[in-house]
Amino acid sequence: MSLTDKVAVVTGAASGIGKDIAKQFLAAGAKVAIADLNIDAANATAAEFDPSGARAMGVAMDVTNEDQVNAGIEAVAAKFGGIDVLVSNAGIQIVAPIQDFAFADWKKLLAIHLDGAFLTTKACLKHMYAQGRGGSVIYMGSVHSKEASKLKAPYVTAKHGLIGLAKVVAKEGAEHGVRSNVICPGFVRTPLVDKQIPEQAKELGISEDDVIHKVMLADTVDGEFTTVDDVAQTAVFLAGFPTNALTGQSIVVSHGWFMQ
Ligand code: NAD
Repeated sequence: MSLTDKVAVVTGAASGIGKDIAKQFLAAGAKVAIADLNIDAANATAAEFDPSGARAMGVAMDVTNEDQVNAGIEAVAAKFGGIDVLVSNAGIQIVAPIQDFAFADWKKLLAIHLDGAFLTTKACLKHMYAQGRGGSVIYMGSVHSKEASKLKAPYVTAKHGLIGLAKVVAKEGAEHGVRSNVICPGFVRTPLVDKQIPEQAKELGISEDDVIHKVMLADTVDGEFTTVDDVAQTAVFLAGFPTNALTGQSIVVSHGWFMQ
């Protein structure tokens, strides 16, 4: 799927899934903004993928901060000439049973996943609508957009919420040729998941090996982790899909952990 000269913003792109999406978007011909809270890592990623600086840029952005989101999106549009693709991917995980979940942690997680998705969408739609060349908005959901797990109340709540947002963007964006979809990965070995393995082992009183095989991968068809490459290929496909035929959908990429 060619993304030749499309301008893409990927949030949380200094690590994990977002980083591989940025890499594959560049390989497909896009110009890519690597937006992240961690600006040093974002700049390093941009320099690693495109030493010339002509097609990749790091952008300092806390997705929960409206001013930073608006300034970052404006800077990308000014450098690359508009915005064609948004991947709202930045996210964190905090695990605890509800009775012990700190209210501050609940609010922090919802802010990054939901406020971040809303603010980046609002800032990018403004450009997509004005440009008149359509666009693609992709949210990083999860199997937890469809299923629940113990210890993940705000994460499951937020990931379900993204499907609602995507459906509204699909309806409002249609007349402008803007499509909106959600990717729902299973477990992917990134820093976000590596951190959870010992935390879940402690909370559930089981070994780390049991967290991997009896909790994370128990319901997959083959006991395998989903990879960043699997998710990035799906993002390239959705970013480049040319019509409103594929909009308002959520695509599960999880080794069959969840089947629709
Ligand atoms: P990761 O920890 O490797 O990367 C997350 C990135 O987001 C980091 O670079 C971090 O600096 C950035 N970030 C965090 N808070 C931010 C903020 N407020 N503003 C801007 N950037 C911020 O995690 P990952 O596993 O690559 O996760 C990426 C997305 O994929 C998340 O939305 C996550 O929920 C989702 N996801 C991950 C998995 C998995 O198994 N890893 C599965 C399903 C969905």
